[in-house]
Amino acid sequence: MHQADLAIYAAERRGIHDARRHDPGVVEESLQPARNRQLPAIFLRKGADMDVRNGMGLRPLGTSAAEFEQDLLSNLYYRRGTTVESASTQDAYETLALTVRDRLAERRVRTAAAQYAANPRWVYYLSAEYLLGKQLEQNMLYSGTDRIARIALRQLGLDPDEVTALDLEPGLGNGGLGRLAACLLDAMATLDIPAVGYGIRYDFGIFKQDFQDGRQIERPDDWAFQGNPWEFPAPDDQQTVFFYGHTEKDAAGRTLWIPGEVVFAEPSHMLVPGHGTDTVNIVRLWRARGSHSSFDLSRFSAGQYAEAVDEAVHAENISKVLYPDDSTESGRELRLKQQYFLVSSSLRDIIRRFRLRNSDWTDFPKKTVIQLNDTHPTLAIPELMRLLVDEEGLSWDLAWAITKQTFAYTCHTLLPEALETWPVHMFERLLPRHIEIVYAINEIFLTEVRNRFPADLDRVRRMSIIQEEPERRVRMANLAVVGTQAVNGVAELHSRLLADITLRDFAELWPEKFHNVTNGISPRRFVKMANPALSDLITEGLGGDAWITDLDRLAGLEPLAEDASFRLRWREVKQANKVRLGLGDPASLTDVMIKRFHEYKRQQLKLLHIITQYHRIKQNPGQTFVPRTVLFAGKAAPAYHAAKHIIRLINAVAATIDADPAVSPYLKVVFPANYNVTLSSLIIPAADLSEQISLAGKEASGTGNMKLALNGALTVGTLDGANIEIRDRVGADNFFLFGLDTPAALELRNGGTYSPRAYYEQDGELRRALDAILDGKFAGVGREVADSLLGWDEYLTLADYRTYVDAQDDVDAAWQDTESWTRRSILNTARSGFFSADRTVRDYASEIWHVTPVKVTR
Ligand SMILES: *Cc1c(COP(=O)(O)O)cnc(C)c1O
Repeated sequence: MHQADLAIYAAERRGIHDARRHDPGVVEESLQPARNRQLPAIFLRKGADMDVRNGMGLRPLGTSAAEFEQDLLSNLYYRRGTTVESASTQDAYETLALTVRDRLAERRVRTAAAQYAANPRWVYYLSAEYLLGKQLEQNMLYSGTDRIARIALRQLGLDPDEVTALDLEPGLGNGGLGRLAACLLDAMATLDIPAVGYGIRYDFGIFKQDFQDGRQIERPDDWAFQGNPWEFPAPDDQQTVFFYGHTEKDAAGRTLWIPGEVVFAEPSHMLVPGHGTDTVNIVRLWRARGSHSSFDLSRFSAGQYAEAVDEAVHAENISKVLYPDDSTESGRELRLKQQYFLVSSSLRDIIRRFRLRNSDWTDFPKKTVIQLNDTHPTLAIPELMRLLVDEEGLSWDLAWAITKQTFAYTCHTLLPEALETWPVHMFERLLPRHIEIVYAINEIFLTEVRNRFPADLDRVRRMSIIQEEPERRVRMANLAVVGTQAVNGVAELHSRLLADITLRDFAELWPEKFHNVTNGISPRRFVKMANPALSDLITEGLGGDAWITDLDRLAGLEPLAEDASFRLRWREVKQANKVRLGLGDPASLTDVMIKRFHEYKRQQLKLLHIITQYHRIKQNPGQTFVPRTVLFAGKAAPAYHAAKHIIRLINAVAATIDADPAVSPYLKVVFPANYNVTLSSLIIPAADLSEQISLAGKEASGTGNMKLALNGALTVGTLDGANIEIRDRVGADNFFLFGLDTPAALELRNGGTYSPRAYYEQDGELRRALDAILDGKFAGVGREVADSLLGWDEYLTLADYRTYVDAQDDVDAAWQDTESWTRRSILNTARSGFFSADRTVRDYASEIWHVTPVKVTR
């Protein structure tokens, strides 16, 4: 914004502020784009139980293939402007998407009406990431149009597989955290909980991974280049977001923030349908736009094209890319800007929605619970304080009471050093008013700490929201705990460690604030859709498909584990899924490790086992071995060099094995590129063995472990994250346990005597494996990996090596008893119903959110 415009803007803001002092009800009209949208009168008149389409005089959408075909033709003609004869495949895809979407849009309208009429307590889920997965297949399933859509397409001479292949995955997240957000939204809709997810509509999602000479290379993911038919733009709900500038006091002593940059946040939403219900919630994603004056026409006319759009480009950079990982250093300020952008626009939208049916601020926490998915949206706490105190004129104390009651915080971290912090100087520059508010919150909070623990200065220093040494930084987790009514970890072990170690001081101060809500996954996405053949078999075995929304019913499969013909069919399904995946011999044991590359997850441990097995096969020609296909998939953060070395070494080992005819009949390593939700849905149903081998005490929960167990894979794993709860449920006999537990790992690491070299020297097989790498046996690749393991081995890989290899020998032995393995596979599925995201959401709803469903009726 030009200096002159900013000055006018500031004057305007001062004027509004003045007016508001006399009339706190004044809406910030001049800050808002023109809004002439009213709720349809029908919402107000009739409430929940009416057919909005009929009420509006519209023809109801049909449920037959013939009617679907008619609607396809009509959308092709009126919305794509073409005909079947001249339609491209892209035209056909977009038309199909719109026709499916129309069915859900009808439910969406009824949902909005029912929720509006109920004026319920809402759940607002704030997350910097959503890994939603492909939308077409899901939306066909949820709208019940899967079958008729295919028939209709064929009727029109179109190949359904060719058309549906154009559906893309919006990769708006990095991994587990973003996928959890998507699974929770799915479960909330399925359970009829009134909810909105808020996020950022990144132009570029998580990078596309490719391999060149075995090295990871990253390509941009321009996911919406062709447009995104699933998205409803809502420019009328545009919001204004401020950055930089300074604060000043008005005559009455109230604070006013005069921004130095103004950016518009333009929302669009995607539909989040529930399964087996008419509820369709939304996820609202914000995109940054330059303000109206950010295009400089005079410069453009003078031929300065780049300079003319400089400011707009600068503003729009905010939603340009998903940050590839929270651990990278680059672009720090832009990331903080993203966080505030998400929080500020979402809160304004939440308040707009609150005002539709409510007028008293004290009702705000009764009608609103805002769940913070990790610390990325924590700025929402000082932002709500700013809105309530500065803009709405509430007293500090009332605003603080409202704020604390409104928020809840999910912590996904364990390592104290991985908790998010921001330099105070950056905070001050970007968000001058928020730093004042954070200081004020901190002062009140630390007074409480001093009163409770007099003379414990060290505790006060630890708990302060501001870290003083070695650099002044804002501790986002401390702010998140102080400003919320509930804090939860994501698995039992994780929640315990949070309260005992990571956030111990806070748990001592407010024990009642700390909860556990064990993660879960969507049975729709990861069983029904990913594994249709197994789903059909389960449905047949249980005599119905109610398990899809009531996953505890899987327990009914237990007796069938004893039924030889059921076991045979179970194996046939697994076999067919391996054929469908098309990687490796379907008769071999399919051993999968699919997840982000991180040293704590220990792909390097799996690799040492592979090299050991390679040596055993080479050393014993003529002996037979259990044939295995080891499947890796996952991305490394672009700047995470240690993880990238591991990727490169895996590819080199895979090539060496492939080229060795003595080994390749028994061992194959495959590493398909670009792990994402789509690829996971192909791999998981084919897995026999699930690798969950992180160092105990490092993985908060894991959710890949749940997906695999539910699809009948047996786990080889440590006592980490939700592995513990999986083992408790499926039974120790059906889980291959190995490795140090958390106390032993902590003791070994912190004892100061851990020597990876001692393990190397004492274990011949381990030495051989590491020597092979050091001697350059794998195309000379991977010495960095071996050096790092022998030098420091942060994640105690070598300490767990022997028990891991022994556990793998147990796996081989167990695999040879086919009937027994199948029995255990069935029991893994039958006993994992607990890991449904529906259960997770029920836990949140009863323990933290205190919300009740709103049923959508016809
Ligand atoms: C489930 C999932 C994850 C999380 O996997 P973990 O094994 O729990 O780390 C990451 N990425 C994708 C694409 C997923 O579907």
